[in-house]
Amino acid sequence: MGRLIIASNRLPVKIEKNGEEMLITPSAGGLATGLKSYHKGSDSVWIGWPGVIPQNKEEEKTVTKLLKTEQCLPVFLSEDLISKYYGGFSNATLWPLFHYFTEFTKFKARYWEAYLQVNEMFAEAIIENAQKNDKVWVHDYQLLLVPNILRQRRPDLKIGFFLHIPFPSYEIIRTLPKRQDIISGLLGADLIGFHTYDYARHFISSVKRLLGYDVEFNQIKLENRQVFIDVFPMGIDYKKFENLANEVQSKSIQERSKVHQDIDRFLMSIPDRKLILSIDRLDYTKGIPHRLKSYRRFLKTHPEFLEKVSLIMLTVPSRTDVEQYQNLKNEVDILVGNINGEFGTLNWTPVIYFYRSMPFENLIELYSSADVALLTPLRDGMNLVAKEYIAAKVNQKGMLVLSEMAGAAKELGEAISVNPNDYADTAEAIYEALTMPDEDRIKRMRAMQRRIKRYDIHKWASEFMKALDSTIAKQSDFQARKISASLRKKILSEFRGAKSKVLFLDYDGTIQRYFDKPQAAIPDNELYKLLDQIVLLENTSLVLISGRDRHTLEAWFGDKNFDLIAEHGAWVRQTGEKWEDKKTVDSDWKEKIHPILESFVDSTPGSLIEEKDYSLVWHYRKADIELGVLRALELTDTLSNLILNQEVEIIEGKKLIEIKASGINKGTAAVDFLDGKSADFILAFGDGTTDELMFKALPKDSYAVKVGSENSTADYYVSNYKEVRNFLKELLK
Ligand code: UDP
Repeated sequence: MGRLIIASNRLPVKIEKNGEEMLITPSAGGLATGLKSYHKGSDSVWIGWPGVIPQNKEEEKTVTKLLKTEQCLPVFLSEDLISKYYGGFSNATLWPLFHYFTEFTKFKARYWEAYLQVNEMFAEAIIENAQKNDKVWVHDYQLLLVPNILRQRRPDLKIGFFLHIPFPSYEIIRTLPKRQDIISGLLGADLIGFHTYDYARHFISSVKRLLGYDVEFNQIKLENRQVFIDVFPMGIDYKKFENLANEVQSKSIQERSKVHQDIDRFLMSIPDRKLILSIDRLDYTKGIPHRLKSYRRFLKTHPEFLEKVSLIMLTVPSRTDVEQYQNLKNEVDILVGNINGEFGTLNWTPVIYFYRSMPFENLIELYSSADVALLTPLRDGMNLVAKEYIAAKVNQKGMLVLSEMAGAAKELGEAISVNPNDYADTAEAIYEALTMPDEDRIKRMRAMQRRIKRYDIHKWASEFMKALDSTIAKQSDFQARKISASLRKKILSEFRGAKSKVLFLDYDGTIQRYFDKPQAAIPDNELYKLLDQIVLLENTSLVLISGRDRHTLEAWFGDKNFDLIAEHGAWVRQTGEKWEDKKTVDSDWKEKIHPILESFVDSTPGSLIEEKDYSLVWHYRKADIELGVLRALELTDTLSNLILNQEVEIIEGKKLIEIKASGINKGTAAVDFLDGKSADFILAFGDGTTDELMFKALPKDSYAVKVGSENSTADYYVSNYKEVRNFLKELLK
């Protein structure tokens, strides 16, 4: 199976101090269950904060030793770091922001500093323990920067990341001062997993808008590698819940736990009594006040249920030192008091409220006894309670009312879905759930159970690991085609031995970087010097082969001793000669197309038109990137209908759409150039779609090199224009 290093804020075990003694207890959490087989395999290790702050080195040693028995390694954090990194940046900045609670989001420089520091500490701990080519799986919002720190220091590692909370829309993430660092931090991974497609598409959108990378399907194209994005809705340990539910149900009344007996008594005291259940941490994302208000509304609009139904609300204390959580506690206390005060009787409590956690067995008893689970978060990455209720409802006589804002709602289409902000609608959903005919609820429950059983926590973990492996396979195919030191040596030695050499160089993106406006990409002195020196090499023809218009190339390179090919081959200027028009066709079509492009410029702020002799280009590099892509599709569609009978073709370039005279392209131009020459060494560099035609047209033994990580017919890759320049410098040695 290979070695895996798992990193998460908390470990799958807890260390507690009992007087002088340190105790270790394994946690029954889903993550630990799902990853058990990977974690226990070979000498894999789980790295995380142990949950205690040792007072001295001796205690640290004890904790480390205890953890070792569980294949865990501690990252020790001081109280100050915990408060700023965990309480601060993780839970007072990222948590509210990623759940769309911008008004609760605090941004403090000292929180950020601590977050950076702890992410460094985690990365260091991983690096210290990682052997060459190990896999690392990093979890959740506390460790967003770890992937990129690892990538920088240990490029050999295969890195997966999973986010367990929502990823918010670009409009939200853009308000965060460190937004770029956060996204770049994540992009250090090979594979990034999310619970739902929405979170994944929000992330991709932010990557495009904040960092400008191109995205093809689910692959983000960085300069020198690709990052894969995919959706893995986390499951639960289904069998565990199902088995235990069967067990508690089959116990005789006397064998049952105190809680279970209480529930039984409650249900039997009045005929046809119903139980509604909600379980969550007391967190503002969970919509607890909204739920109570909807329930109050239900009691008002359906008085026939008075005394017949109770809401058991188990709220687990959470982050109790944070102000918003204290305020929420007060609000919930008051609401529960109000409802019970308004509707309660001597025999009946409308809301049975627990502010504590419960042992696992009692959770199962509650799940399996409840007629309805009412789970109405305002935002929730997944909501595992929803899935646990379904698994534990072994007689299927239950119904789930679930907020559409929970990640789980995507998989649980048979539940009654509600918008938690709509109290009237939620009240009606409660009524519908309570009165649904058995036949219907059983059918819906069965469908949900089948799905949740199939994609359980084991499947979730194995699907992620499988995807990470295949990502790595794709990545290595790409990396194998990158020009290595040995390949470079081979090419250089062939170059030196050849009698007649030709170098084709595309300009933009190949020997010069992209600028917002095309006219700003003026050659710099370093580039001029480099090209001038190449021209002096013996038996070497240098050809600048570009889509640019001839006037620009003339202005930039008119006095140079190399060949220029402009407008993809429509114009050619051999060294010392005049420009030759290779495409003597009329260009009347431009008059028809120009106004259309103008209308696209008007409706796409930031876009612009470039006009050449035989082509028109609509550039959208400076426009909002998503609008630009949308408009580019629209433009292509509009134009394809218009140019049916014209000698014109549409090319999609890098953040541009070019409409040009057909028949001539960089492929035909390169072949034309080579005609009659007996070149025995050909090397071509290019980064765009139009360069692909050149790569395809060149003789088989040529070296075609793609700049960037997009799919290409070229055999070899380099990362960016700087690497091209460095390669060219080698030719001079
Ligand atoms: N849970 C628990 N003890 C309790 C109540 C709940 O261990 O007293 C568990 C519950 O079984 C579930 C988890 O807490 O697995 C809550 O996960 P969920 O995804 O619903 O919400 P989160 O707390 O992660 O936001």
